Amino acid sequence: MCGIVGYTGHLQAAPILLDGLSKLEYRGYDSAGLAVRNGEKKTEIVKAKGRLKSLAEKTDNGNALIGTCGIGHTRWATHGEPSETNAHPHMSDDGNVVGVHNGIIENYQELRDKLTHAGYAFHSQTDTEIVVKLIHYYARKYALGPVDALARAMSRMRGSYALAVLFADAPGEIYAARKDSPMILAVRE
Ligand code: GLU
Repeated sequence: MCGIVGYTGHLQAAPILLDGLSKLEYRGYDSAGLAVRNGEKKTEIVKAKGRLKSLAEKTDNGNALIGTCGIGHTRWATHGEPSETNAHPHMSDDGNVVGVHNGIIENYQELRDKLTHAGYAFHSQTDTEIVVKLIHYYARKYALGPVDALARAMSRMRGSYALAVLFADAPGEIYAARKDSPMILAVRE
């Protein structure tokens, strides 16, 4: 398990996310990624295998990603090899739900089968992509807002996790959830 960071406010998010991830580097990781949203525009995702430095280079130290709301992740692979495809963030195919996750979803295979049956396709080997698509599934099926979709997905997930999720319908907002994994929330001026 490694690190997740989120920021929403008045400043550019990407440099803050990179800085936050660098403070978690000591925990070890194999890849990293950022998702940043500029107002109501589509969320942009950049990932890199290997060191955080590669992600910083790819994004011009975050300056290439414009937006004041975002989430970042350093991954320690548990489900699927270390690769750019398996790196987080993961998103629903329509881009409406984007998430990062630390931890392990124990019943991911059962959930993957359920979602496959419902028509979902998967592009990575991670348990995380299943979580993101499970949230998307409930949001769409029952026309739920972010909190209810997240709660419904959590009631089906077994394991330990910390999650940070962006929803297309909620610009400027980050939804977070955790179970048996630590997470800190902070508010400042
Ligand atoms: N289980 C997830 C994965 O393999 C998250 C691993 C982590 O905590 O970094 O992608």
